[in-house]
Amino acid sequence: VLERVRYQERPERFEYRLTAKGRDLWPVTMALLRWGDRHYATEGPPRLIRHRDCGGKVTERLQCDRCGADLELHDVEAVFGPGARRHREGEPVDGQPAAA
Ligand SMILES: [Zn+2]
Repeated sequence: VLERVRYQERPERFEYRLTAKGRDLWPVTMALLRWGDRHYATEGPPRLIRHRDCGGKVTERLQCDRCGADLELHDVEAVFGPGARRHREGEPVDGQPAAA
């Protein structure tokens, strides 16, 4: 579901990327993200998932709330939200979509 990928050598740092199996879980991932934001994000969501083309938000039906497009994982990107620490809101999260 996740693979560990080194993205920096000194100091060594890793990130976890979704495998093909993991990418198929994106509706589940989005549901968990929404649940976490609702119940634990007291300072606002740390990450926001946006439609790449127009910047709209992802609805519970996995559609864009701005342009109405049906969204798949490759259509969206993650940006830092108001609850992210040490990052500016709206800044891209490593260009990796929905790897939450
Ligand atoms: Zn859109």
